[in-house]
Amino acid sequence: MLEKNQIHEAIITDLTAEGSGVCRIDNTVVFVPNTAVGDRLRVKIVKVLKNYSFGISEEIIEPSPDRINADCGVSGRCGGCVFRHISYEAECRAKNNIVHNAFTRIGGLSPEFDEFIPCEETAHYRNKAQYPLASIDGKIVCGFYSRRSHHIVPVTDCALQPRIFADILETLTGYFNDKKISVYNESDNTGLLRHIYLRRGAHSGEIMVCIVARKDISRQLSAMCRILAENFPEISSVVLNINPDRTNVILGERCVTLFGKDSISDTMCGNRIDISPLSFYQVNTVQAERLYAKALEYASPGKNDVLADLYCGAGTIGLSMAHSVKSVYGVEIISAAIENARRNAAANNIYNAEFFCGDAGMIFSELRGKCCVPDIIIVDPPRKGCSEYTLEVIANAAPHRIIMISCNPATAARDAKWLSLNGFSVDKVCGVDLFPRTGHVECVVLMSRQKS
Ligand code: SAH
Repeated sequence: MLEKNQIHEAIITDLTAEGSGVCRIDNTVVFVPNTAVGDRLRVKIVKVLKNYSFGISEEIIEPSPDRINADCGVSGRCGGCVFRHISYEAECRAKNNIVHNAFTRIGGLSPEFDEFIPCEETAHYRNKAQYPLASIDGKIVCGFYSRRSHHIVPVTDCALQPRIFADILETLTGYFNDKKISVYNESDNTGLLRHIYLRRGAHSGEIMVCIVARKDISRQLSAMCRILAENFPEISSVVLNINPDRTNVILGERCVTLFGKDSISDTMCGNRIDISPLSFYQVNTVQAERLYAKALEYASPGKNDVLADLYCGAGTIGLSMAHSVKSVYGVEIISAAIENARRNAAANNIYNAEFFCGDAGMIFSELRGKCCVPDIIIVDPPRKGCSEYTLEVIANAAPHRIIMISCNPATAARDAKWLSLNGFSVDKVCGVDLFPRTGHVECVVLMSRQKS
C-alpha cells in the first residue's frame, strides 16, 4: 500500500494527455508530471487515491532518450505546453498512443488505425490567443494561467503564437497602463479589463484585436484604435467584447466594433472564410486543412450525396465539400457562426449549402422530418462529445457513412462505441496533431452503416 511522502524508484512507461508520465509502483498506477517514457526516477508520492496515486520526480536517475531542453522561458510554469521537455517525435508517439488507447480501451473497438499525421510547424502555428490581464505590483500585465490555477504567468512572446502578437500586446498593455484603466477582479466582480483576444488569418495575415471588458469602455479605447492603426497595418478589425458576468467564460454575448470590419477573412481549403470574434475557427489553419482532407477521404462523397455537417461553426468543413455533393445542411448553436457560414457560402458562390442555428440533435431531427435525408453525416462536437439524444438522431437517420472529428479522443471513442452498438461499424481512425507541444490531439473516425 502506497503512502504519502514515500520515495520509490520507478520507470515511466507511458504519457497521459495531461503530459504526466505513468509508472507502476506496488501494482498501483502513479502519475508523475514533467517526465518522459523511459525515465528512471526517484518518485515521491504526494497524493494517494483509491485506484491511482500522484507523485513528483525527486531525482532523475537515468533520463529518457526522448528528453530535450525546454526552449521556452516560462515552460513548466505556464499551463499551455505539457510536452516541451520531450522531442516532437516522442510527443507524436505519445499522442498516437492516446488515440489508440481511447478507441481500444475506452471504446473496446478494433478499427484500422491510419498513420498519425504530425504537424510540420511546431512553433508559431496558432492563429488565436486569449490572454487574461492582471495587475501585478501596480502594473498591468497579460499572460497565461499556470496549470489548474487562476494565477497569471506574465508572457507576451509565446512560442506557439504569431510573432507579431508580442508587439501588439506590448502596445496594448502600455496603453492600458498609461490610461490607468482598471483590471477585472474576479473575486468581487469589479474592475474593467478582462482579456486581450487576438486572431490572425494564417493565409490572409489579417489581424483582429478584441478587448474583453466588464462594461462598455469604447470611449476609453478610441485613442488605442488610432495607435494600433498607425503601427500595425495588418490589423483590420478592433472589437470590444462586453462580458458583465461573474464567470470564467471568456467572451460575453455583445460585441462593439471600434475600428475596421466586424470580422476578419482568411482562406480555408481554398474557400474565403469570414470569422467573427464569437465564431469557432480551428486554431491551426494549415493542419486543419490536412484534417479536413482526411475527413474528405473518409467521406468519399459522390455528386448525388446529401451531406449533413453537424456542429458546423462558420461552415468550413461543409463548404470545403460542397462542390463534391448535391447539397449540404449545416447546424450550429452560435448564431454569429451561422451568419458567418451563410456569408461564407455566398462569398464562395456556393448555392447548395444551407445553415441552421440551434442544438445539433434538435435541429437535425426537425430537418430530417422535412428535407434532409443525408447519405453522409459529419459530426465535429466540442470536447464533451455528442449527447445521447444527438447520437440517436444520427443513428436513426441511417446515413451510409458517419465521419466524426473530435478534439477529445476519449469522448469520440465513447460516442463511436455507442454508434457501434446501434448499427454502425467503426472502420478507421486517424490521429492528427493540430496542437504541437500541448497535450491536445485531434482524431477523425470513419463509421459505416452495417447492412444487416
Ligand atoms: N466544424 C467546425 C466547428 C467545430 S467546434 C470547424 O471545424 O470549424 C464545435 C462547434 O460546435 C462550435 O462551433 C460550437 O459552437 C458548436 N456547438 C457546441 N454545442 C453545440 C450544440 N449543442 N449544437 C450545435 N452546435 C454546438
